[in-house]
Amino acid sequence: MLEHLFVNVCIIISFLYFTGMILKKTESLHFRLLLLMGLFFGILGLALMYFTIPLNNNTIVDLRHLAAVTPAVYFGWVPALISAIIITIGRIVMYGVSTSSVVAGIGMIGIGLICSLFTRIPLKNLHKLQVMNIASLLIIFIALFINLGLPLTFQIFPFHFITSLLAGFIAYAIAEQIKRANEQFHRLERSATKDFLTNLNNVRQFDISYNDALRQAKEKNEKLSFLLIDIDHFKTVNDTFGHHAGDEVLKELGKVLTFHSRSFDIVSRNGGEEFSVLLLDCPHEHAMTIAERIRKEVEQHTFPINGEQSISITISIGVSTFPDTVSSTGEEIFEQADKALYLAKRTGRNKVCDFQMVQAV
Ligand code: GH3
Ligand code: MG
Ligand code: MG
Repeated sequence: MLEHLFVNVCIIISFLYFTGMILKKTESLHFRLLLLMGLFFGILGLALMYFTIPLNNNTIVDLRHLAAVTPAVYFGWVPALISAIIITIGRIVMYGVSTSSVVAGIGMIGIGLICSLFTRIPLKNLHKLQVMNIASLLIIFIALFINLGLPLTFQIFPFHFITSLLAGFIAYAIAEQIKRANEQFHRLERSATKDFLTNLNNVRQFDISYNDALRQAKEKNEKLSFLLIDIDHFKTVNDTFGHHAGDEVLKELGKVLTFHSRSFDIVSRNGGEEFSVLLLDCPHEHAMTIAERIRKEVEQHTFPINGEQSISITISIGVSTFPDTVSSTGEEIFEQADKALYLAKRTGRNKVCDFQMVQAV
């Protein structure tokens, strides 16, 4: 009997581990993922039902209800209910239509509904899980009583009760551990790729995106434009209004740049008060128009620096395009935009320049 219990706990742990692997890829629990979780835990329920725990020659128990309880605690009512429905259908398919399978099926749907109702109770996960576990066990008690009669139910139930609470605790401990590991992973991933102040790509992620975009432009024969953007006289903002106000301006500029770029353009903070936008599949002339539009938008925008005060800033932009203004790939796109930006700074700031203008000087 103990070895069967061990097998059941191992099945639960393996499924939770795979759930963790799926969730490692995403941070948001969108609806499709909830459906997938429902399906996944439904299969866990079927596996638990298949690998039952025999108490004696005539009596078996299983931990299938935990396949509805666990997703209810961690993902809400949708996967809990889907899992319960899958387990009910599986019960009928595996053991045929009979009074006991109808009672067990109704019981399982009842467990799904009770868990769904309990998802919103304000308890810690462990307490919530065990409350749902005990509520499910009450339903199981009634189902056992209908199917087996009172004496046998009283014989089985204490063991089932203790086993379920123990398995529930193990499921909780493993699920929490996987959840924490995933949260930590996502935090690290974010801090490795995102600038903490603006939430734009940081310079490391910019490098990766820059090389990817170049490779893609070459492969697909597309044009890739690059805007290198620097705030004019930003030091004065810091000196006049303080470093915190400077930070607020940087954050707001990040929003303005994102708002005026297309969703697939790559906006980054390359460091300090220097930003960039990689315009995918965008010819040089169009990039110059976009750069000019961004420059104007920033000039007209008011940047809040504290509760009531707002300031205006201007930016200078250097533009380059592969293959319109740069024939080879690599650092050249960046260097050319940097030279154009330098020209914009030298010739008065608050303007957009490209390499043609640099050559004309
Ligand atoms: P220019 O028009 O020539 O670009 O002048 P500038 O003052 O913008 O350029 P400079 O390179 O002289 O100064 C950049 C300033 O940006 C200095 C630095 O304190 C400030 N800065 C860099 N990173 C941050 C940051 O994260 N927060 C704040 N508040 N300021 C920053
Ligand atoms: Mg500057
Ligand atoms: Mg600068």
